[in-house]
Amino acid sequence: MPTLHRPATLAEAARLLSTLDNSMVYGGGTAIQILVKQGILFADNFVDLANVPGLRDITVDASGVTVGPMVSVRRMETDERVRSVAPLAAAAYHQVANPRVRNTASAGGNIAHGDYRLDPPTALLVLGATVRATSVRGTRDIPVREFFTDFQRTALDHDEIVSGIRVPAQPAGSGHRFVKSSSLGENDWPCASAAVLVTGAEVHIGLGAVAPTPRYVSFDARGMSDQQAVDAALEVVEPELDPIPDVRGGVTYKRRLARVTVEDAVRSAWKDLQDA
Ligand SMILES: Cc1cc2nc3c(=O)[nH]c(=O)nc-3n(C[C@H](O)[C@H](O)[C@H](O)COP(=O)(O)OP(=O)(O)OC[C@H]3O[C@@H](n4cnc5c(N)ncnc54)[C@H](O)[C@@H]3O)c2cc1C
Repeated sequence: MPTLHRPATLAEAARLLSTLDNSMVYGGGTAIQILVKQGILFADNFVDLANVPGLRDITVDASGVTVGPMVSVRRMETDERVRSVAPLAAAAYHQVANPRVRNTASAGGNIAHGDYRLDPPTALLVLGATVRATSVRGTRDIPVREFFTDFQRTALDHDEIVSGIRVPAQPAGSGHRFVKSSSLGENDWPCASAAVLVTGAEVHIGLGAVAPTPRYVSFDARGMSDQQAVDAALEVVEPELDPIPDVRGGVTYKRRLARVTVEDAVRSAWKDLQDA
């Protein structure tokens, strides 16, 4: 049976992770519990962050919002400050699984989980968010655009803790949309998801579930019509599409759905911008 450790400070958590054998951080436990039950994950020591003060804080300033790693996905979806500063992020957190999972899962655990199908990273990529990582060696900031390194792999070292996520404020007067397309049910993992931010000059696109890692692309959209922007978006996402076939669909189906999802998100965000 694994041992559950409940450190009272972040420094103690970092020390435990660096010294205990076969240890890992325990956030909300929603992913860990399933992987343990499936016999895929074996750990001797879980370092639970539940009792570390300050890790559930949300702080807002003029340039963005800083989120503690133990802030629940549900709060990311519902907190008025997050919704006002980074509405695209709130929209993506809103689409994670179901209320039961969202109430338990943490923002830090969500991104650290590193699954290619996760919804929130699509918006965090678009908004240029940063992950703060803390270990016994100190603290470093990792741009989310450099965070997802390979299938189920992130830039975190084994003993690093996600100690915060910084989300820059969404530019005023921009249009945004998060679109998630699932084949097995509304609350299920996506076959394809797209977070889109349209400013006067650029289109930014974050893609989930269409490749072994979340993907980000952008292009200059100055002078384009909505149809030209959709066509340009489909052209820039095409090389990124490398879906993994599974029970939710084959490669051809997922590629097609990815294109439909991107078109929907770009068209809707573009319309928001024009209506603003
Ligand atoms: C039924 C179900 C459906 C789901 N559907 C979706 C979906 O549609 N969209 C979606 O986006 N997600 C979905 N998920 C995934 C869900 O978002 C993740 O399980 C959840 O976000 C993980 O957060 P957690 O806090 O529970 O992480 P945990 O289970 O505690 O940990 C997950 C991983 O992150 C690590 N970790 C946790 N916290 C930290 C930290 N602070 N620093 C470093 N590493 C850490 C752990 O060591 C572990 O490797 C679904 C999950 C379930 C159970």
